[in-house]
Amino acid sequence: MLNLGTDEIIKYPFLAEAKTYLQDKGFTLEQFVDDPDHKFIIDMAYDRIKYAANGKIYPSPYKDNINISSFLPREIFSFIIAVVLLKMSRINILIKKFALSEARRAEKYLEKDLEAKINIHSDNIRNQLEHRINQQELAIKIIKELFLVDIKKDHDHFIIAAQDYLKHAVHFHETEWKLVNRHVYKGFVYLTPHETVRLLRRKIDQYISSRIYSIEIPSIQNSLRYYVNNLTLMAKKFPIPSTSSPGQFPPCIKHTLNMLENGKNLSHSGRFLLATFLLSKKKPIAEILSLFKNAPDYNAKTTLYQINHLAGLSGSRTKYNCPSCQKIKTHNLCFETSECNNISNPLQFKNNNESK
Ligand code: SF4
Repeated sequence: MLNLGTDEIIKYPFLAEAKTYLQDKGFTLEQFVDDPDHKFIIDMAYDRIKYAANGKIYPSPYKDNINISSFLPREIFSFIIAVVLLKMSRINILIKKFALSEARRAEKYLEKDLEAKINIHSDNIRNQLEHRINQQELAIKIIKELFLVDIKKDHDHFIIAAQDYLKHAVHFHETEWKLVNRHVYKGFVYLTPHETVRLLRRKIDQYISSRIYSIEIPSIQNSLRYYVNNLTLMAKKFPIPSTSSPGQFPPCIKHTLNMLENGKNLSHSGRFLLATFLLSKKKPIAEILSLFKNAPDYNAKTTLYQINHLAGLSGSRTKYNCPSCQKIKTHNLCFETSECNNISNPLQFKNNNESK
């Protein structure tokens, strides 16, 4: 486990070992949630989930250059209790939205730590330089130890081995992420702090989700039941996405639908596959749009724009085709069964019911 300072625990609460942290503060979880003096923290935890469910990032009262010791307990406790509430609720869509929102929050801090800007008008440049090196070193260490990605600093950029870059960039469709459009030198790809963090987005999100699913909680149901019931009500606004005739879809498309149904964060490639497939099947845009409602980062305006773009109704007016099976395999989205029958594109899929 990383040795973290107070600043880092506030910025990256998912790195704190919940049980150890509570014990260090002289609490057990049961005592903590039963104490009326701590009700405001449970309310904060609930709010933290509410922010995430609405696609927002929980705002932190923490700002640089202030005494943060007063913020630390409530920041960490509210995160821990939010995780407990979510684990008790077992509502996948809320867990995924929370993980994504907390990942976005951590990304902001990680980017800031990698950047570690210096105020050149300040008197204590030397201290700032030292602090900058520490911040950057710790951010690089977090990336290496948690996400198993090796990056190094090279002047104002961060460099990553080209083969590692490709493993992560495969999920992006934008041309700027193609290796030919990157500055590559001696087998290393050069990235800005923002691009470095963006490249790791999926890893951060997955790490937080896995921490939530793996946490063990004692039986403290009664004292938190009220909040868990409210989470159940909150989740009702996320309907189960559906489309007509999914039974006739190929396994890769069923997989993408399944991911969305469970509130999982479908990759860019997965979204591209699903949308282009359904557009080719002449499904109405409103129906396709509704399928993405459960995506943890759903934004109606952006999603509608993207679907219209793929349909050739906006931007360059180019209509995008459903990718080939070969291409889908390279994105690890192929779940071939005997029914696929060596087809080369999901649009050629015919299931047994259809051919009868
Ligand atoms: S073989 Fe093609 S249609 Fe079948 S699951 Fe793979 S990508 Fe989809």
